[in-house]
Amino acid sequence: MPVLEVVLGDLVAQRVDAIVTAANESLLGGGGVDRAVHAAAGPRLAEAGSALAPLDPGDAVATPAFRLDPPVRHVIHTVGPVWEGGGYDEAAVLASCYRRCLAVADTLGVRSLAVPAISTGVYGYPPAEAARIAVSTLRTTRTGVAVVRLVAFDQGNLELLRSELLAQEVS
Ligand code: ADP
Repeated sequence: MPVLEVVLGDLVAQRVDAIVTAANESLLGGGGVDRAVHAAAGPRLAEAGSALAPLDPGDAVATPAFRLDPPVRHVIHTVGPVWEGGGYDEAAVLASCYRRCLAVADTLGVRSLAVPAISTGVYGYPPAEAARIAVSTLRTTRTGVAVVRLVAFDQGNLELLRSELLAQEVS
């Protein structure tokens, strides 16, 4: 089980072995965090991603990190669920994203991983519920990844992730 950290900041600036991007099924690059990752990694990221597309919601695949600064060596692309009210297995798909990212990270020998708040931007997942699923899934999945850093991009997500971490650590 990994140690979880929560920070406020830019995913692309994290000094870890691999970063997770909240992609769309084409893996060609989207908005939000995915745009920032593609901008930093350069055009070969979309080339490598599209060769592995389409990627189903809940699944994850890895590509090299291309122009991202070391120590980041891999980008793990996952497709979160689009929030449609909660009756379409969104929670199971979101949990699957985090589990699959750890499984893919394990195949690469990744020891430190940074992840954004998947689906809480354009895909509209309610952030409190998404934070609960992120923390509960990551902290209970068996993995060789030693540290997972949850990167919040706004104060609201930071506070939600921090309080989930506290609540679930004492439970
Ligand atoms: P999705 O389509 O899965 O909702 P988004 O990229 O729209 O993906 O949003 C996911 C989360 O990533 C949101 O909470 C958003 O604020 C956050 N985010 C956007 N840019 C960055 C960034 N550079 N670093 C970390 N998180 C980011």
